[in-house]
Amino acid sequence: MQVGNIAIGGDEFVVMAGPCAVESERQVLDTAESVAKAGARILRGGAYKPRSSPYSFQGLGVEGLKILSRARDLTGLAIITEVMSETDVEVVAEYADIMQVGARSMENFSLLERLGTCGRPVLLKRGMTATLEDLLRSAQFIAASGNPDVILCERGIRTFETATRNTFDVAAVPVLKTVCHLPVIVDPSHAAGVRALVPVLARAGVVVGADGLLVEVHPHPDKAASDGEQSLTFAQFGSMMLDLEPYLSLRPNADRLYAAAGGFD
Ligand code: PEP
Ligand code: MN
Repeated sequence: MQVGNIAIGGDEFVVMAGPCAVESERQVLDTAESVAKAGARILRGGAYKPRSSPYSFQGLGVEGLKILSRARDLTGLAIITEVMSETDVEVVAEYADIMQVGARSMENFSLLERLGTCGRPVLLKRGMTATLEDLLRSAQFIAASGNPDVILCERGIRTFETATRNTFDVAAVPVLKTVCHLPVIVDPSHAAGVRALVPVLARAGVVVGADGLLVEVHPHPDKAASDGEQSLTFAQFGSMMLDLEPYLSLRPNADRLYAAAGGFD
């Protein structure tokens, strides 16, 4: 799948990084510059934030989209940002290179249908209680509405375990890569919920054959408006990228590995 000059789902392991939420121009530009230097190709940042409390920061909206597009102009990074509502699809598509559908919106079928005609690739996150079949059915809504460019994202699911924010379903990657042709990426930040576990889960994603990563990075995680506990500092992101390098050559070629394993029904 092509996003500008970036191929997702091919030989390159594509890293998308940036803050959970767009908070200010300074925050986004500094982050963009730093993650680009460390090897990220795509800048993430939410301008429309799905928050579990109405009293939490809800995002900067269109002003946030404009900040992201200035960061693209300055760094050459492509932009991924979340769209929560059908009514925002048009304006988000104007600024974003990839439209993110959050875990909470995976079953917003009218949003999915609207994204079928948005003219941009869509990154579809797995819902917290969604099976992989549910995820694939949601992807089909987008494809059946006219947009075959869907990237799937494993971001952890809810289980009885409380040591991590969500439970990272590492098997989701080889299963999805076997049963469909879509690119699959992992989000270790929302799976872990704590920054110390992000690099090791990222590494797990690499070796099971993910096509890329979505990672939260913030200039001052302790001051972040959302998800600071799971956000990496610039230095931590840089180290993670260096540490991942030897594992990239171990990335399984999907056809070879899964054919050898006998496939998956
Ligand atoms: C996010 O990417 O910041 C986000 C809200 O993720 P999720 O939808 O996976 O919770
Ligand atoms: Mn977040």
